[in-house]
Amino acid sequence: MSIIFQSKSHQTHSHQMKVIETIGELRQRRRQLAAPVGFVPTMGYLHEGHLALIRRARAENLSLVVSIFVNPAQFGPQEDFSSYPRDPQRDLAMLAAEQTDIVFTPSVAEMYPPGFNSWVEVGQVTERLEEASRPGHFRGVATVVAKLFDIVQPTRAYFGQKDAQQTIVVKKMVADLAMDLEIVTVPTVREPDGLAVSSRNAYLNPEERPAAAVLYRSLCLARQLWAQGEKDAAHICQQMTALIQKEPRATIDYVSIADPETLEELEVVKPPALASLAVKIGKARLIDNVVLE
Ligand code: AMP
Repeated sequence: MSIIFQSKSHQTHSHQMKVIETIGELRQRRRQLAAPVGFVPTMGYLHEGHLALIRRARAENLSLVVSIFVNPAQFGPQEDFSSYPRDPQRDLAMLAAEQTDIVFTPSVAEMYPPGFNSWVEVGQVTERLEEASRPGHFRGVATVVAKLFDIVQPTRAYFGQKDAQQTIVVKKMVADLAMDLEIVTVPTVREPDGLAVSSRNAYLNPEERPAAAVLYRSLCLARQLWAQGEKDAAHICQQMTALIQKEPRATIDYVSIADPETLEELEVVKPPALASLAVKIGKARLIDNVVLE
């Protein structure tokens, strides 16, 4: 069953957005879309970061498909799958205002029917950074993204630089499996104090929220040291760590300076290099990065 959502934000002409829950109906509707088709996969609870991807996809393609699916396969057993923030009605209103053609909102049973047992494993780039704290995370991401690509058949799919490793994993999967689409990376959208916009920022209480700016401050320090000629990656990571440790609410998961293609840790910073980190503040595990170039 699909529902049609009328956008009220554009007075000149109304735009019809279809909300589709099944793979079968999505495939049928997809055949009627004008190419090129832009696709933005999300887990919903939409914010300005998602909107940057959606607007870019809208501007660069004749049709726009957005998916909202909180993918259980990319959450560990101790992670926040059940408490992950959700607000489908608000999301649909935002997507209608962006002239989205199709919103795909499959159920978990639609994407992972009983007996589902095929997985996409993307080697080396999944074994670093996030993987240590989130084992199996990228297997879940690669599997769902591969399945969504096959269902939606996009010309281009849009991913945020905020999740740098995810974007690298998706690009590697597309290259290795010769998937017929282009992956576009969109710069990170930030709050005025530099905090990267994220659905998980909703976990921060009013005391924790200002503390979360320490992630971006430490990335700016890395960029500043690099700009001043510092090439010793370990030294830059130490300075970043020391800055974060001054914030009592912050607990470091990792601080890294790595090759942006292989994600191997660098000893000597050679541009472009990916400075990235994961830090826990209260209940929120936050990630961010900048490219040193
Ligand atoms: P999510 O719903 O968290 O899975 O994110 C969906 C997409 O939005 C991913 O490609 C993210 O990288 C991207 N995204 C999330 N936050 C931001 C942000 N602050 N700036 C740019 N892209 C973002």
